[in-house]
Amino acid sequence: MGNSFYRDTWAEIDLDAIYSNVKSMKNHIGENTQLIAVVKANAYGHGDAEVAKTALEAGAEMLAVAFLDEAVVLREAGFEVPILVMGASRPADVKIAIDQRIILTAPSLEWLTEAEKNIQKGILSVHLKIDTGMGRLGVRTEDELLQAFKFAEEKPNVKIEGIFTHFATADELDTAYFNKQYDVFAAMAQKAADYDGVMIHCGNSATGLRFPEKLVHAVRLGISMYGLSPSMEIKPELPYELKEAFSLHSRLVHVKKISKGDKVSYGATYTAEKDEWIGTIPIGYADGWVRRLKESEVLIDGERMPIVGRICMDQCMIKLTSFKETGTKVTLIGRQKEECISVDEVAERLETINYEVPCTITLRVPRMFL
Ligand code: PLP
Repeated sequence: MGNSFYRDTWAEIDLDAIYSNVKSMKNHIGENTQLIAVVKANAYGHGDAEVAKTALEAGAEMLAVAFLDEAVVLREAGFEVPILVMGASRPADVKIAIDQRIILTAPSLEWLTEAEKNIQKGILSVHLKIDTGMGRLGVRTEDELLQAFKFAEEKPNVKIEGIFTHFATADELDTAYFNKQYDVFAAMAQKAADYDGVMIHCGNSATGLRFPEKLVHAVRLGISMYGLSPSMEIKPELPYELKEAFSLHSRLVHVKKISKGDKVSYGATYTAEKDEWIGTIPIGYADGWVRRLKESEVLIDGERMPIVGRICMDQCMIKLTSFKETGTKVTLIGRQKEECISVDEVAERLETINYEVPCTITLRVPRMFL
């Protein structure tokens, strides 16, 4: 989106933080393990092209997204590195994947068979997904795995370049289910290793952070590339410092004094207890600053101040501790002086995970890249 926009609300993306987070993971996993930068969902709301470029500069070898459309956007933006689509694509769309040299995920033998029928020319590259306990996509038995490899051996236009799985509980302190999934995967990986040049990968951020020795050939790095901990449980035991890349800011566009008893916003739910300074900021639920964040806090001049009244579609109101000039910067996520409102704090208020917070700040909020 570039750095020119016409509204007083914006997100700042600290690309140096992303660079540093990728470098830290590279150092942590060692030079023999590749790093796949997961930039799906517009890089978890951070900006896919800018994050991809930064991650590659920091040493990532490959990109991963959820949908074919996202991979095409990256190809069109000029990215030449291998791109893996981790979700299920339509078998009918293999032509676009082959034309753009995009690696698809084969979630089953049926999918592979159907996809092969749609190939007119060229070679379809896939990574075969193994469902070791996530219950989402993938083959579940060694037999299915071997059948898929046999199928690809017989079809010159299909190449299984990799196999992978995804852990359901890598971010939990209790490792029982993780170990169970890992053991299933290790057995399957041993079978796949009989085939030349197959890339074997199983780990997301949490696995990479906690069990780098279990990654095999690559880590698929998402949340901790953005400087966020995969869960609150493992936050105290992270092996290196994560640098948060996302912050969210606005400016006071209107400031007024209201009198005791005056009301603020829809439903007139907030009543001033005394004469109060109220500031309006141009961000609302259509920007992803959802109504449940009413009564949460923002930072002005390094001080916490509460949002009062209901959050509107495009605006919300702040109870100021004293008069502030129109144009004063307001930080909704990020640091001002000694105070910090982290993505984790906002996630906690929303009773959700940090992943969801930057993802739900909509594209109407311009991203500024620092
Ligand atoms: N691999 C797969 C298959 C995923 O779906 C995701 C994200 O959801 C990732 C890797 C990255 O996970 P994380 O963001 O926890 O690093």
